[in-house]
This record gives sequence, structure tokens and C-alpha cells, in this order.
Amino acid sequence: MTQALLADIARRLDIHGQHQYGLSDINQSQHALQAAWLAEQAGDPPALIAAALLHDIGHMVHDLGENPAADGVDDQHEDVGTAFLKDHFGPDVTEPVRLHVAAKRYLCGKEADYFAKLSQDSVLSLSLQGGPMSADEIVAFEAQPFWREAVRLRRYDEGAKVKGLVTPDVSHFMPYVAQCMAG
Ligand code: FE
Repeated sequence: MTQALLADIARRLDIHGQHQYGLSDINQSQHALQAAWLAEQAGDPPALIAAALLHDIGHMVHDLGENPAADGVDDQHEDVGTAFLKDHFGPDVTEPVRLHVAAKRYLCGKEADYFAKLSQDSVLSLSLQGGPMSADEIVAFEAQPFWREAVRLRRYDEGAKVKGLVTPDVSHFMPYVAQCMAG
């Protein structure tokens, strides 16, 4: 079971190597690998490296096309991804994944210059996702376990859009995923 799931996750990451990531010049697989690599280089624990690798797995299990935000659709990929992961991983992996979109809304509400740093596709999806958080939403967000990890993941997410950046491949990161699997 464990081996089958690991193989399934690796296969999804490889298949989506063909699929463009939003409006950017990289594919979804490169985006996942760059995010995981940023977490690894920052010295984050295995759970956050795994979460970074898997944060957009929701894009790899639904069938809404490559950039639903362009069609005005919030694909809620953070919830789709969390549903896919929740039976197999603990909250140290699933909560940063679930909260990574909220973390973008949080940072836009919290840091005056964060919005200006967003890529074009992040700006487009932000409005569909509810826009910057209000002061009350910020307080509620900071009350959630793993909110700090979600913010770290969100920064890796935004940084993981570098065309041509060569990273280690999927097999390099799968041991982190295996290590975090429950049971
Ligand atoms: Fe992402």
C-alpha cells in the first residue's frame, strides 16, 4: 500500500511534468521540485519539504485543465490535495498544504509589499480566492496550528517559478515523502 501510493505520487509528479504551471514558463513538476528544493536548502524538516513537493498535488488529481483561474474558476486545489493526502500523512504535511492558499491571502493582508511581488497568475487567482485577508481573518489564521509552516510554504511556492532552474529530480525528494507517511 505504502509503496503503491509512493509510486502513484511519483507518477503524478512525472506526468505533470508535461503540464504548464499556470501562466508561468515552467511545468507543474518543475514547480513542485523547485518548491521542495527551496525548503530543503532552507533546512526545513522532512514534513515541510514533503509538503512543498506535494502542495499542488490537487492540480494533479482534478480535471479542470491547466489554468482554471484564467477561466474564472477557483479550483480549490488546496482542498482537493488535502483530501488526497489526509489518509496517509499527518497534519505537519497536510495542514501547510491545506493552508497555503490562505497563506497567500494572509501575506497580502499582512505585508504591504507582498502583493507587488506576486506573479501574474497569483494575482489572478487571489481575487477568486477571496483577496487579501481582513484584520479579523489574520487573527483567525494565526490561531491555526501550522500557520507558520503554511507561510513558509507559500514563500517557496512563489519562489518556485524560475524558468530553466535545474533541481534534483523526483526520486531525490521521495524519501522525504516516504519518511512522513503514516502507518
Ligand atoms: Fe504552487
